[in-house]
Order: sequence, then C-alpha cells, then structure tokens
Amino acid sequence: MCEDFIIISGPCSAESEEQVLKTAYELKQLINISYFRAGIWKPRTHPGTFEGVGEKGLEWLSKVQTEIGIPTITEIGSPYHLESILKFGIKNFWIGARTVSNPFSVQEIVNASKGLDLNVFIKNPIHPDLELWTGAIERFLNAGIKNVGAIHRGFYPYQKTHLRNIPQWEIPIELARRFPDIKILTDPSHIAGDKKYIKDICQKAIDLNMCGIMVESHYNPQTAKSDSNQQLTPLEFYNILQSLKYRQSFSSDLDYKSKLLNLREKIDVVDFQLIDLLEHRFTIVDEIANLKKQHNVKILQLDRWKSMVESRLKYVNDNKVSKSFLLKLLQLIHKESIKRQSDILNENESRED
Ligand code: PEP
Ligand code: MN
Repeated sequence: MCEDFIIISGPCSAESEEQVLKTAYELKQLINISYFRAGIWKPRTHPGTFEGVGEKGLEWLSKVQTEIGIPTITEIGSPYHLESILKFGIKNFWIGARTVSNPFSVQEIVNASKGLDLNVFIKNPIHPDLELWTGAIERFLNAGIKNVGAIHRGFYPYQKTHLRNIPQWEIPIELARRFPDIKILTDPSHIAGDKKYIKDICQKAIDLNMCGIMVESHYNPQTAKSDSNQQLTPLEFYNILQSLKYRQSFSSDLDYKSKLLNLREKIDVVDFQLIDLLEHRFTIVDEIANLKKQHNVKILQLDRWKSMVESRLKYVNDNKVSKSFLLKLLQLIHKESIKRQSDILNENESRED
C-alpha cells in the first residue's frame, strides 16, 4: 500500500566528497526526495573494476544528512557493512540483487538488524526467481523488522534487449498480490541501462501503482565511475518528473464506477468460459493420451504441433489478439498437454526422478 510516492535519487557510487555533496545539493534544490542514495561498497562482477570508496564515503553521506538535510541510503551486503553505516547515523539500506540471492548473507544481515529502527529495501535477485525475493522479505518480517520494502530492478536478459534488465512486471505484481502491505519501488535506472529509457519506465511504474522510484543521478554523469550511461543530472531527472502523468489509484465518479463494474462482470463471465473451455480441451487431451497409450505411440507429433501453430496464427486477427501473445498461450497449453499425456502414458511405472 502506498501513501506517498517515495523518490530515491543520487549517484550509483559515492566517488568523492565534492561529487556527493554537489549532487545532493542540486537534488535538494529541485526535487523533494525521500532518500539520497550512493553505493559505498559496489558488488562488481569482475575484480579490478571500481569497487566503491568504502567507509570514507559514509562520512560524506552523513554530511548529506546533517548539512543538507536528506536521509541517506546505501547498499549493504554484510553485518559489518550494517555496523559501519550505523556508526555514521545511517539507518536506511537496501540489499542488492547479488546479495539477495544468498540466503546465508541475508540471514546474517537480518540477525544483525533485529531490534533496530531501520528502513530496509530488498532488491529482486538478478534472475527472475520470485521465491528467492519473497524469501528474503520473509526473513526480515519474521524477525520482527518493520519498514521493509522491495525494489524492482529488473531481471537478467537471457536474450539481448534494448534494456539492460527485463522488467517482467508480472513478478513485482505477483509480489504485490502476495504482500499487499509491502511498499514496492521500481529502479528504472538498472532496468534501463541507458538514460533515454528512464522516463517510460518511470511512467510504467506509476501506472502499475508502484510506491516509488529509485533513479540514479550525478551532477556530471559523463565522469561517473560506474553506470555512467544510465545516470541523469538532477535537472534531467527533475524534467522527467515534471513530464510524468500521475494518475489516481481509483475514481469515485459514479458513472465511471458503474461502467467499470459492468465491464468487469463481462470479464468475469469470459474468464469462467475460458476455464470451462480449457477443462473441455484437457478432457480431449486425456482421451488422445489413452489412445496413444493403447497403440504405443509417442507423445510429440511434430507435424501436428507445427500445423496447429500455423493454422491458429493464420486464423487470429493480430489487431485483436497479437500473434506473439497467441504463440505464448499455445506453448503454455501445449506444455500442460504434454505433461498430462506423459502422466497417462507413464502411469504405474516407477519413476526415479
Ligand atoms: C545499485 O543500485 O547501484 C546496484 C548495484 O544495483 P543492483 O543490485 O540492482 O544491480
Ligand atoms: Mn548503479
């Protein structure tokens, strides 16, 4: 549930006192941000690249809090990091995409966080594993730690795309369904990888009812030691924020409400029809499986599958149901059909897998 829209901004990494304070000061003049971010310890894929300035950067973040008046937040990956930020009066942290994949590390941080007054955000793991993400959240909640939020930063693209990480919005939406009280923010910078895509991702986050955004900014992005392509100047970020359309979560207009109710009733009818049709289809699949079993015939008949896909894609009106969506739906149905046939053909046989 979102009350206010949370904005986190600041550089990918703290690089120098001047860079941190200058960026924070420019942000302060333009945007009412909730937290100033800067990575102190950077979990880089390869050694030998810029791995953050370490503890000395915490002094600069603490100045942002005391001199500029913005709460600061950084990434931590161990109880040692937690101890260090607390020494500098920083009580806000996020767990990064790489650390969240390791339940040992997450649990160690949870144990060190118990009983403390913190604001914690958990980024999604690099790979699209919702269970690992929710598992980390549960560890914090089960330890009685309040103020736990999530940050959606997209997922590793197995195929090259224009974005650095694929949003797979269905995953944070499912997270929201399972944890309706958790604030979920989007990190458009790490999804985009390039500043030209950030605006559209911010808009999508708003339209999908996310509770905020974390956007990297730097007073001079060209000189940034990490993620230079995706960082905005505070002014560029301000201009994006100005251009976004902030829609309301609901409308109490009576005409809107009655029309929506009517349309939703129609959707309900169609969905139940779809379920009945699927049930009917799978009954036929089971009959086919029994027939193949009797005649000792293999499950996959490639020619049939090819002609099924071709005929259905030819039949569909692409303007009404896109061919790419239909193909994915057919593949999903076919996968289930193969599973059912396999269960029937191999039933009563011992399985060792
Ligand atoms: C970051 O926020 O700078 C960062 C390293 O992000 P992620 O863990 O999402 O890659
Ligand atoms: Mn970054």
